[in-house]
Amino acid sequence: MKILANDGISALGKSLLEEAGFTVITEKVAQENLAHAVNEQGIEMILVRSATTVRREVIDACPGIKLIGRGGVGMDNIDVSYAREKGIQVINTPASSSQSVAELVMGHLFALSRFLNDSYKQMESGDFSTLKKNFAKGVELRGKTLGIIGFGRIGQSVASYALGCGMNVIAIDKKSNPVLVPIPLGNGLNATATITPHTSLASVLGDLDYISIHVPKQADGSAVIAAEQFAQMKKGVRLVNAARGGVINEDDLLEALDSGHVAGCALDVFENEPNPRKELLSHPKIACTPHIGAATVEAQDRIGEELASLIITAFGKHS
Ligand code: NAD
Repeated sequence: MKILANDGISALGKSLLEEAGFTVITEKVAQENLAHAVNEQGIEMILVRSATTVRREVIDACPGIKLIGRGGVGMDNIDVSYAREKGIQVINTPASSSQSVAELVMGHLFALSRFLNDSYKQMESGDFSTLKKNFAKGVELRGKTLGIIGFGRIGQSVASYALGCGMNVIAIDKKSNPVLVPIPLGNGLNATATITPHTSLASVLGDLDYISIHVPKQADGSAVIAAEQFAQMKKGVRLVNAARGGVINEDDLLEALDSGHVAGCALDVFENEPNPRKELLSHPKIACTPHIGAATVEAQDRIGEELASLIITAFGKHS
């Protein structure tokens, strides 16, 4: 059986599939040629990350597809229900990337607190003494309060790191059941904390020094943070969005940054991927990364391994 891993797959995942007798093609096919390539090459499984979309048109045009796999969590780039109606298996790897996304978020929290993004950009051409003065008002994370909106796998992993750094964590979720968060500390030390999420965002927004959002793309496409929520936040708050473009309204974010109400924001995801709007990329108070939350060797190995295992379980070995 032929598998097209159109956004790549780790060497480990590829070799596990090949050892099981599958042919794995990793040459990228442009989105507009996807259906044609699938039919022409007799491909029966399409694996994607977040770049390639598998919509109804591709599904209709490729009657030979038996499985669509998403290496990662959010499946908003696949018409999942439609594919399943057509008898196509749709799989993803929800837990494999949580730790990597959480580490990226922590990197952004530290970087926002010390203006690293803007400092990196300006060091080459700026005057050293002026820059030293401009970046003199950094702040520390320890003792500050982080609000985590969306307390699922990634939110809980972020909590684990933030608690380990001495931050106070307030969780917000639709579900209010208490969660036992493990905090592995290194040197074999372990701690835990029980966190009970709040269900009302408005009731806690004013208490937060930092906010990291980890909800999925909302079914109706609406933003979870827009002008109304920005107005309720503490002045000087810093935010991270490593969830999905659109869960923070980009127009309202720019306004909140320009008014000085929000001190900084890090974005790993954008409404208009892969062409985010220029005002976001060039803004001195915004730190951007190109949707790399899960882009670590470890996460990609776990994702490749999990995809291979799911496929081999579903279709058996072919060698
Ligand atoms: P999850 O399903 O484990 O957790 C999501 C949580 O959000 C759930 O507990 C849910 O109840 C809560 N939620 C949903 N809507 C909400 C709302 N309006 N208000 C409050 N809570 C709400 O998902 P996860 O594994 O933690 O992943 C979260 C998201 O992160 C994914 O859907 C994906 O979009 C994104 N993600 C990004 C990257 C990246 O590379 N940046 C990588 C992986 C995942």
